[in-house]
Amino acid sequence: MTPLFLGAGIYRGSSYGAGHPLAIPRVSTVIDLVRALGWLPASQYRASPRAKPAALTIWHDPDYLAALERAEARQHVTEAERDRFGLGTPANPVFPEMFRRPATGAGGSLLAGELLRSGGVIHHPAGGTHHGLRARANGFCYLNDPVLAILSLRRAGVSRIAYVDIDAHHPDGVETAFRDDPDILMISVHEERRWPFTGALPEVGAGNLFNLPVPRGLNDTEMAAIRDRLILPRVAAHAPGAIVLQCGADAVAEDPLSRLSLSNNALWEVVAALRPLSPRYLVLGGGGYNPWSVARAWAGVWAVLNDFDIPAILPEPGRQVLRALSWPGRQAGRQPPAHWSDTLRDAPRPGPLRPELADRLRRLEQRRPPA
Ligand SMILES: [Zn+2]
Repeated sequence: MTPLFLGAGIYRGSSYGAGHPLAIPRVSTVIDLVRALGWLPASQYRASPRAKPAALTIWHDPDYLAALERAEARQHVTEAERDRFGLGTPANPVFPEMFRRPATGAGGSLLAGELLRSGGVIHHPAGGTHHGLRARANGFCYLNDPVLAILSLRRAGVSRIAYVDIDAHHPDGVETAFRDDPDILMISVHEERRWPFTGALPEVGAGNLFNLPVPRGLNDTEMAAIRDRLILPRVAAHAPGAIVLQCGADAVAEDPLSRLSLSNNALWEVVAALRPLSPRYLVLGGGGYNPWSVARAWAGVWAVLNDFDIPAILPEPGRQVLRALSWPGRQAGRQPPAHWSDTLRDAPRPGPLRPELADRLRRLEQRRPPA
């Protein structure tokens, strides 16, 4: 089945504001890049509809949604609204599209659940806002589109779902929604001792919750072990009707917000390995705060889903898209290394499988499945 790409125009030119890590373009660059490479015919592109508040109440609190819409209309929040709903904070600022933009990402995830009813593969790189809470903005996320995608799949008749999250941060919002639901397998790989400081290894939820905090400097060899010893066996054993992969790009080495050291190959190998394990596959975006790393990682995800060959050196139109990027206020943005513009694929970043990580993997391997 031919994969579909979900995008929208609103990601181009809307910004969380100067100085915010999400001031950078991400989805618009991915779209430009895959188009420049001839990888996105019109037949594979769908525009995300903007979800209406009523559709979002499938999980989100109506009072919160009203506050979010009101904040966008007024471009202001009261102190009481800020305290109660987490709006108008440095992480979740007031900005012109603060309802419409996340509602478009959420609309894409709701649509994905419907489109996958009879099977298929969808890449929705604007999705993956995994910190959003039912009644509160959190960690750059205003809504929680992964939760909405899972509920939409449910509504389409898919009961057993695997949610896999390889973002550098723990998906606290998604976990609050499904931790007590044995039909949702939840696996998260995230950097230890990093915000939001949830996702401890011993937690089991209803028996299908697997949290793997990983040490700084996680390398490709370690990620391959995690893939082969935790992610793939647990997903296969769950026999999911659908897989939702949150494929944040912030575990890649050059990300400014975390300290993991993967190459983008490690992400792509997870994307490829999960695909045969379910008839329905939704790959979301997530974190990722280096504009070059994000664009290259997610364009490569699209290539993997389509079995496209990734050229060693990008053709000129692709290079132009990457050369046009800038990263205001960041030293690394002044003279970006040539491979950030000339290639999609990073050099591999292998390394030792450190004993503390091997021990944690063993502990998760030994955990019995729920009765
Ligand atoms: Zn993240």
